[in-house]
Amino acid sequence: MNSAIYLRVALDTPLASLFDYRFDPAILPPEQQVQPQPGQLVLVPFGRQQVAAMVMDVLQETDVPPDKIRSVLATRPQLAPLNAEWLALTQFAAAYYHRPVGEVMLPALPKNLKALKTVALDKALKKISKQPAQPVWQVSTAPVLNEEQAAVVDAVCQGNGFATHLLFGVTGSGKTEVYLQSAARLLAQEPDAQILILVPEINLTPQLENHLRTRFPGMPVATLHSGLSEGERTLHWLNAHLGHARILLGTRLAVLASLPKLRLIIIDEEHDVSYKQQEGLRYSARDLAIWRAHQRAIPVLLGSATPSLESWYAAQQGRYQLRTLTKRAVEDATLPLIRIVNLERERPSEGLSPRVITAITKRLEAGEQSLLFLNRRGYAPVLSCEACGWVSPCPRCSANLVLHKRDHRLRCHHCGLEQRIPHTCPDCGNIDLQPLGRGTQRLEEVLATLFPEARVFRIDADSTRLKGSAEAAFDKVHDGEVDILVGTQMVAKGHDFKRLTLVAALNPDAALFSQDYRASERLFAQLMQVAGRAGRAGGNLTPAEVLVQTRYPDHPLYHALMRHDYPGFAKDILLERQQAGFPPYVYQALLRAEAAELAQAVAFLKEASELLSHPQIMVHDPVPMTLTRLANRDRAQLLIESAARPALQAYLREWIPALRALRSRVKWSVEVDPVDI
Ligand code: ADP
Ligand code: ZN
Ligand code: ZN
Repeated sequence: MNSAIYLRVALDTPLASLFDYRFDPAILPPEQQVQPQPGQLVLVPFGRQQVAAMVMDVLQETDVPPDKIRSVLATRPQLAPLNAEWLALTQFAAAYYHRPVGEVMLPALPKNLKALKTVALDKALKKISKQPAQPVWQVSTAPVLNEEQAAVVDAVCQGNGFATHLLFGVTGSGKTEVYLQSAARLLAQEPDAQILILVPEINLTPQLENHLRTRFPGMPVATLHSGLSEGERTLHWLNAHLGHARILLGTRLAVLASLPKLRLIIIDEEHDVSYKQQEGLRYSARDLAIWRAHQRAIPVLLGSATPSLESWYAAQQGRYQLRTLTKRAVEDATLPLIRIVNLERERPSEGLSPRVITAITKRLEAGEQSLLFLNRRGYAPVLSCEACGWVSPCPRCSANLVLHKRDHRLRCHHCGLEQRIPHTCPDCGNIDLQPLGRGTQRLEEVLATLFPEARVFRIDADSTRLKGSAEAAFDKVHDGEVDILVGTQMVAKGHDFKRLTLVAALNPDAALFSQDYRASERLFAQLMQVAGRAGRAGGNLTPAEVLVQTRYPDHPLYHALMRHDYPGFAKDILLERQQAGFPPYVYQALLRAEAAELAQAVAFLKEASELLSHPQIMVHDPVPMTLTRLANRDRAQLLIESAARPALQAYLREWIPALRALRSRVKWSVEVDPVDI
């Protein structure tokens, strides 16, 4: 009689990811001889490597022939199993995004859990065991909620079971306060509950973390984002997994954390594209969070001043419950006045119109802050030769190299290539090469010349490359050490600057005519966000003002913006989308391909498009991607869509294996619900 036990495990491998191994206690040290359960980690041999694997099933028999089957090398009995809900969540994500389950599960776990040596894991577990199991925390004084806010907290906390609440609140309307008081109410009702709070950007975690620590002294709060060291990540992840952390605050990857007592999910700035992972498993953290809430029958709260059109549409259909905050929470903090500056009439010099310069001067005199928003980092987008028309191209991409003057470099923002700045034109030898256009660095330089007495400060991806430098930079603004802040979209989001009364958007027009049908939705959200940084504190500061420089002063987007009219804007755009047959009225998937030559990529896509036809599926023609060449590879894409999500999913289940069977040498990937097409 064969009494061997086999484990079916998931591995982080690209194709099939389930494999059977023998569990042979006799070859393991005594503490590892207990038979592992589904949800536990083990180490197995794979090829010549030893890799971590997730136990999915315990089997009495296997189809693998006895001379082929290999044995489990080690188990991790010290780590409590991931529960069935977590396994179901990751299995759902794998099925929905059409990836092997191991590729979803294993990368979601901290490295120290999967390492061959257990030193780091054991150290973290030991550290955690010294926390009190029943922590006590206080709730410090909080502002009294206004009626609108109170209604949202009531709805979120009194509801029974699954509900998606869409909190549509203008900037500064006190959404954060709603999150804090919902958390407080819930934890008062159920002290061992867990709450997951997602923010779109790592830069927004310190601010919210501070709010949480000040509001809830003694509360175990864990954080998960890409800025943690492996040791920290292990500790925070385990705290959530073991049910100690009451609140887990994190970026999109935190949606896959293990939270056995999860009772509420909050997603701040739910419209933000950062919730979409853009490589590997291309998941939407917002969508997975909603699925997770449904699975656990708990509420999920999505907050935004400019909801995604998907969410807005869902609210109109009654699938989500719309909760609205119509005014700013701080007494006498009114929404800023948004004004359009017509650049045809008010000629800018160095990118700044006279009205913007006057407005800055006024803030400087009053000791208040100005924010100049320019969504383009670097000194100038290109270096050019006026004699022959040469502009600095990236030799590897269909894009130009950006001038970074201070570092004496030309840089490609797409592939990362760097070059020294040429002294003469490579084509004609002209020595007079000029920067063309304007980036944040040049703007910073211009402002320093115009306002020599002012403290000008720039925040963008270049100025905050070092760990901790972004947080320090934002602190500087909060502490009033900055008069004029220059920044990209990094400064647009979420920050609660108290002395900021002027925002100027210098060059937003480019996005108006983009090929990407989502560009206007994004532009509106971005401008609304950045405008929302102004005038948040009220009091006797200069009335808050937002100046938008444009050559298209009559564009409907700017008019909706001036009226702070997100619902009006959303209505127009939804109508356009319906007429054009775009999401949220259809469901899409995108097949991307890259090859040394465009023709190869397109040929593969053409073949792919003819593999399978289905009456409910529309397969478009292959087209080159907007940025066709990236790092010496040409890229093309094929869009498929359907009015029915299940039909699209069923199609993908059949189509993707057929694509694999082509065994093409072209590199390809499929994205479900793409946001960038
Ligand atoms: P949002 O997240 O909607 O942009 P915040 O939650 O940051 O807005 O709130 C903006 C400001 O209003 C903060 O300074 C906050 O402390 C304050 N605030 C929020 N709710 C109230 C309230 N009910 N009473 C007084 N001040 C409030
Ligand atoms: Zn030239
Ligand atoms: Zn490049």
